[in-house]
Amino acid sequence: MAKLSIRDLDVSGKAVLMRVDFNIPLNDAGEITDDTRIVSALPSIKQLLSSGARLTLCSHLGRPKDESDLKYSLRPAATRLGELLKQDVAFAESCISEQAAAARSALQAGEILLLENTRFFPEEKSNDASFAKTLAGDAEIFVNDAFGTAHRAHASTEGVTHHIAQSAMGLLIERELEFLCDKLESPSSPFLVIMGGAKVSDKIEVITALLNKADTFIIGGAMAYTFRKAQGHAVGDSLVENDKLDLALDILKKAEELNTRFLLPADTRITQEFKNGAETQVTNIYADGGNIPDGWEGIDIGDVAIDEFCAEISQAGTIVWNGPMGVFEIDSFEAGTKAVTEAVAKSSALSIVGGGDSVTAVKKYGLADQVSFISTGGGASLELLEGKQLPGITALTDA
Ligand code: AMP
Repeated sequence: MAKLSIRDLDVSGKAVLMRVDFNIPLNDAGEITDDTRIVSALPSIKQLLSSGARLTLCSHLGRPKDESDLKYSLRPAATRLGELLKQDVAFAESCISEQAAAARSALQAGEILLLENTRFFPEEKSNDASFAKTLAGDAEIFVNDAFGTAHRAHASTEGVTHHIAQSAMGLLIERELEFLCDKLESPSSPFLVIMGGAKVSDKIEVITALLNKADTFIIGGAMAYTFRKAQGHAVGDSLVENDKLDLALDILKKAEELNTRFLLPADTRITQEFKNGAETQVTNIYADGGNIPDGWEGIDIGDVAIDEFCAEISQAGTIVWNGPMGVFEIDSFEAGTKAVTEAVAKSSALSIVGGGDSVTAVKKYGLADQVSFISTGGGASLELLEGKQLPGITALTDA
């Protein structure tokens, strides 16, 4: 069901409560180390302010114990947002205090206020109705633009919608839905899914959901060893999920039944030392059976796999990528992830990079502007790709 967007609303002079994702990384000195999430919210914020909204923002930050946990204060985000907007951003020290309510009702058209961390109260996560009602306050319109938490039914994402007349999505969520849902409804073929990262268990559901739709899967990262072990190969000291071996075999069988090509790396880069500059070797499925000796662990795909995977990427019509090919955070182990990033960036396919570490990789190699879309949500983007309803979106007003 299509949902109301801020494009559909007249917000002039209205009290608007917007949920943003300002869950930003801070260093020990309380300084913001990456303001991407604040920058991502700017289009919706600017549109609402220029249309005359009286705008109150709320967000969570980290996992605080309670209100005394001030290292999780959103005050640095208010300062940074003010610099980016070149406009005063007021700050309320509690998201549900009388002072916050007074500051909200005093807002004039085009003015903006940020509330303190909603997770200072446990009622945020438990989606407590009376907390949600106080947080909703005098708002006439609710806007959700926090895609990263849209898969959680919390007071600030779902609860408030029951106390506010109209609830709409912001421009960021609108774009996430456009790429992760609309454009994947009838993807240009070949539809290639690239999966990597640490664990199969995190991505089983998305793999299963996309097995029906994709033409080809490429599997890299540590999750490849769970598949290889399930096939009977030795994996040495590599990261493996021993309780997921049957599941890995089920996935391989299902791929065969569905005629979906499922490519595991033909060779693996292995090491005895998990550190930069470590000596590495390559074990190849064709040359030596691809078995990894004890005392060695797989940390990247090898050169044959790189060539095979990049050839697939160059022919794809649509690419969905989630998870690195190896331990790319360590320069000596980054070759596979780097090559795949460069191939995706070079490809003319519609390329969607879904959340988390593959986004970090794309940024590390300076190629973020060469892919079609980078999702701002890890868990939320996986759940959308799995075909699930996200509570923070389902709760919005139907268009
Ligand atoms: P995920 O969050 O599941 O996408 O996993 C990302 C993490 O997987 C990154 O921090 C990588 O360093 C890690 N990773 C990728 N390949 C391997 C590997 N072969 N062994 C251990 N960790 C890996």
